[in-house]
Parts: sequence; C-alpha cells; structure tokens
Amino acid sequence: MKEAALLALPEGMDIDQIQITQTGLVVSVRSTTPSSRCPLCLEPSSHIHSYYHRTLKDAPCVGRQLQLELSVRKFLCQNPDCSRKVFTERIPDLAEPWARMTTRLREQITSIGLSTSGKAGVRLGDRLGIETSRNTILRRIMDVPDDARASVVYLGIDDFAFRRGYQFGTILVDLESHRPIDLLPDRRAETAAAWMRDNPDIHVVSRDRASAYASAASKVAPQAIQVADRFHICKNLTEATQLLLARCQAEIAAVSHIEEPVQNESGKPIVSIEQWRPKEPAHVKEVRLTRRAGREARYKQVVERHEQGLTAKEIACQLDLSERTVQRWLASGTFPEAKKRRKKASSFDEFASYVLKRWQEGERNGLALWREIVAQGYTGSPQTVYRHLEPLKQASIQASLNPDRLRKFTASTAVWLFVRDPKSLDEVEQEDLVTFCQASPTLKQTYDLVQDFMQMVHKREGHRLDIWLERIATSELPELQTFATGVEKDKAAVKAGLTWSINNAQVEGQVTKLKLIKRTMYGKAGFPLLRQRVLHAI
Ligand SMILES: [Zn+2]
Repeated sequence: MKEAALLALPEGMDIDQIQITQTGLVVSVRSTTPSSRCPLCLEPSSHIHSYYHRTLKDAPCVGRQLQLELSVRKFLCQNPDCSRKVFTERIPDLAEPWARMTTRLREQITSIGLSTSGKAGVRLGDRLGIETSRNTILRRIMDVPDDARASVVYLGIDDFAFRRGYQFGTILVDLESHRPIDLLPDRRAETAAAWMRDNPDIHVVSRDRASAYASAASKVAPQAIQVADRFHICKNLTEATQLLLARCQAEIAAVSHIEEPVQNESGKPIVSIEQWRPKEPAHVKEVRLTRRAGREARYKQVVERHEQGLTAKEIACQLDLSERTVQRWLASGTFPEAKKRRKKASSFDEFASYVLKRWQEGERNGLALWREIVAQGYTGSPQTVYRHLEPLKQASIQASLNPDRLRKFTASTAVWLFVRDPKSLDEVEQEDLVTFCQASPTLKQTYDLVQDFMQMVHKREGHRLDIWLERIATSELPELQTFATGVEKDKAAVKAGLTWSINNAQVEGQVTKLKLIKRTMYGKAGFPLLRQRVLHAI
C-alpha cells in the first residue's frame, strides 16, 4: 500500500486506517507476512494463535506526533522439540520486542541527547514534535554502545580538567582516525596502564611531559615509541623563559633606578647605548661641516644687519630667508646648530650590547669582534663594526635603556616576544625585543637560545638537540638549565617529538571540543555521561 511506503514502514506492514486527532496522527498497522520464525528454535510457523495490540510512539511526521496502533500476531511453534509453544512475531526493523517507541524515534532522541543534553534536549524535541523527558534522553545517551573499534596504533594521550582544577581525566585519541577512543576518569599512571594493556597494538604514544603517561607506556607498552608532544615541550620552554625574564626584569629595574652620571671617573663623557652611533664616514662629515659653515656665515650676516638697525623683515628680504627664521635666530642669541642626526635602525643594533660587553672586557680588535657577531648571525661589514668602535675610544658607553619602553611588559607578556616567530612580530614588537636584548646580554643570549630551539621544533631538527643542550650547559642561565635537565630525563621522547611529524595538536583540539560539551551540560555531568557524549559526539 502506498501509505505504508510513505511512512517508510518495513516490508510486510500494511496500513488499515489513518486518524487525525488533536495531537497528531494515529495509524493502524498490521503485519501481513504469512509466517514468522520462533525466536527460540528459529523454525518458521504460519499457525496463528491469536492477535494483540501494541501502541508505539513513532518519529513525528511533518511536525505531527505519530502513533502506531500495531496489530501483532502470536504464532504456535510447530517444532515438537521446542519448549516454546506460543511466540509473538518480531518486527525487528520497526521496534524492539518490548519497546514502546519505534527504533527510528529512539535514534532521533539519542541524536538529540548526544548533541544537546537533558533539559535542552527536551526543549529541542518539543520544537521538533518529539515528546520526551530528561530521563529518557539521559537513558538513551547511556545506552549507546561503545563502537567496536579497530586496534589503535598511533595513540595520543592527554589530560583534561574535569572539575575545574581539582579533578582530571584522561582523553585517548586515535591519531590516525582523528577520533577520541576513550575517556578515563583520572590521570593516574595505573589507569592509563590498564587501558594500554588492553590495546597491545600501540606502536606510538604521543603524550605530554608529565611522567604518569610516560611511565604507564614504558611499563605496559615497552614496544611503543614514545613521542613527547611539541606543544608541551614549547610550553615548558616558554615557562622557563618567563622565569628568566622575571629575574632579568627585576635586575634591569634595579639598575635603571640608579642616577646616571654624566661623566665617569676617567672624565670621558657617557653615552647611553641608544645614543651610540657609529663614526661618521669622512665624506658625510665634510658635507655636514660645509653646510654648517654656510649656516654660520648667514647667521653672522643677520646679526650684522640687525646691529645696523634693519628690521627682521628687511633682513629676511635682503638675505632671502623667511622672516620667522630671522626672528628665531635673533631671539636665540647664539648660532643655531642643526638638529642632531636621528639614529637610524641598523642591523648592528641587535649585536650592540654584545659588542659593548666584549669591549668592556678588553677586546679592542674590530675584526675579531666582527667575526664573533658574524657567528651569531650578523650580516654587516667589518667597516660598520670599526665605525661603531671609533666613538668608544672617546666616550664610555653605558648599557642603559629606555626603562619606560620595557615597563609596560610583565614577564608573562614579554615572553611572547622571545618565543614567537620573529617574522610574526610587528614593528613596535621588534623594537621592544631589540630594547630587551640591548638591556642585558643575558637576554640577548636567552633570545638566541630560545629561537634556536624553536627552529628545531618547526623544522623538525631533532638531530640538533644534543648540541643545543650542550650550549645550555655552558650558558649561565639556570632557568634554561632546569628546562634542559627535564629534557635530558626524557630525551628520547623529546627527540622523537622534534623529529617526527606526529603530534598532539589534534588531541588539544579534542580537549577543546570536550570542554565545549562539558559546558553545554552546565558542569553537572557525571563522568559516564561526559564520556558517552564525547565518544559519540555528532
Ligand atoms: Zn520454537
């Protein structure tokens, strides 16, 4: 019958009658298959024993509630060896034997539950014409069976805050299928180990730096290669750098409070590092002095005419100057020097504090200094270095800085200048960074080491890790040395993390999704419910 097809009823079901009531549609349906199989012995039987009625709620039809009045038959089992004498016919495509709703309605409620939650699900169902309750929805969510999944080979594991800050769970992600495969109610090593024991095909465990998952994997999955996640490695380095910055900032602040003397003991003028300019090339100096002489001659002419009693306007007219200039010169009473050259940004700036430190240590050989900074990445010529050293012979440069510029930073904001890709910094940030590096050779050294590590991370150059660790060992940076000690303890996994393309970025993504789900449940969800919703999220 056409109507049966319209309502997508299983084959063999016929519609007897459709009634429109105030609440929706009531459809009388009966089964027309000539025989049915005994559920116990599986023998077919066509001997009808009796009829009875079942009422099933069905999925809504064009916004109307749909109720099926089902006429079901009971059959006599004809197998003499079977203990079942009478059985009810099964309609597996429509509903479970004792269910009060059709399978398709149950699936719809499950979907609503998995994408909303109890209360919100009731409201959404109401809009869609599905009458349901919070308890039904929660029961549906809990009834979803775990997927029969293939064994996991690439496992990503991480923790998440379950109750903010004081209860943590563990999320396990199949890095190949990009699906969360399980949630554990805590983040203890034993719990993770028990799970891994049930999954013997694990080849790779991508994990954070906390030791619980590491020890779990070593214990029960010794065959698996452990990969320390890059995200967490970088996070650890960032934290170490932040501690170092906090210490250096305190030192910088202490120094900047000391009044700067204008001269030092030897009588040399003191110039701050920001004012440190290279010696002018001879031809530039010549041009500057010629201009200065020209201006001085003009000034003398102005004064002479003024003494002769000429007005400013007359002088301006005679000498082809503006009246304002004449007034200004006369008012100042002295020869007006040209404004000082503005310091141009130079590739040398980054290395200024280092060169200064070496100069103060007694290094006077320009070529040697040039070689040292070339080794650190300087690309300028030796001549530029010579020209910078020239003024040091006449003055004493102090590694001062503009403390206002750095005052706006806390260690936690400044640290991003150090760890981010320098190409992503805007102009102001770049200048801030240069100021930091000039403020202290320690910071400059820190910056170079941190950036070198970041290069290793981004370019997957795990083979350079040992050299980097040696550089840290010989540095005098205790905060980075603590970080390095942590890396040494977990070196194989860190090296794998810096070499392999695999990483936990998608696990972080799953944790974000989990947090979102948790929020839609108003934080009241128990662990089993959260687990169901995360694993079966739509
Ligand atoms: Zn039977």
